[in-house]
Amino acid sequence: QFSLANYASIVTGGAVGLGKSMAEGLAEMGSDIVIVDLNAAKADEAARELRERYGVRVLTIEANVCDPNDAERVREETVRAFGRIDVLINNAGIVRNAKAEDMTYEDWTAVMDVNLNGVFLMSQAVGREMIRQRRGSIINISSMSGTIVNTPQNQIAYNVSKAGVISLTKTLAAEWAPHGIRVNTIAPGYMKTELTEKFFRTGGELIERWMSMTPMGRPGMPHELQGIAVYLASEASSFATGGVFSVDGGYTV
Ligand code: NAD
Repeated sequence: QFSLANYASIVTGGAVGLGKSMAEGLAEMGSDIVIVDLNAAKADEAARELRERYGVRVLTIEANVCDPNDAERVREETVRAFGRIDVLINNAGIVRNAKAEDMTYEDWTAVMDVNLNGVFLMSQAVGREMIRQRRGSIINISSMSGTIVNTPQNQIAYNVSKAGVISLTKTLAAEWAPHGIRVNTIAPGYMKTELTEKFFRTGGELIERWMSMTPMGRPGMPHELQGIAVYLASEASSFATGGVFSVDGGYTV
């Protein structure tokens, strides 16, 4: 039920961090992988590791998820290489922090573009292929910040973009269920990656506060998303669609 043998899975932002770790999880279960990232060097490094460790085929595509032409190119190149697309993990995301009254329109737009428009564009391009196939699983990475407003954090654009991803997930789940496509979202809490590294490095009051608000009292590690990613990608989750799956050490209870 959890096997991903003969699957082809796309992971955006899969060169490092949570995306790389989820790609590893899928590869371990037998899936071929397409890493889509702006960072070609890191993507190639990740691809080499996956090939060596799991013996799967790995394609890397240097692409920007918020460019409609790139989204279409990712679909084309994946189908050319593997003949199918079984899974899309929309993981690429960015953060720009500022108080609401100080946030520039440029920062607001940059966050919306990658975190929300990118998820829409990639889902649409790949979804058209999945509609033809009459099967597929789309997994969007939102955040606990899409369900609660974590203070003091100064992340208005991030929070709103991630809340948008949750609505996008539910809407696509409803629209595409008749086509055999399932769409779910994972809402992680604080995970130790490059994205959050500077907070953990500088430590201090903010981290202490966040950890004290996490019942499990620690941040998550990237490998702790692998299980849920494999579950949602595979037939093990065949009746799950439109779901918001929290993986946050209990933060949002
Ligand atoms: P990260 O910054 O470590 O990695 C993000 C990757 O996405 C990088 O390889 C980057 O090059 C790529 N990327 C960025 N913009 C892109 C674009 N326009 N097109 C293609 N690739 C692009 O981030 P992470 O911590 O691994 O986070 C991954 C996802 O998980 C993000 O969506 C983030 O919002 C979400 N998330 C992270 C945490 C956390 O605590 N780390 C918590 C909740 C949600």
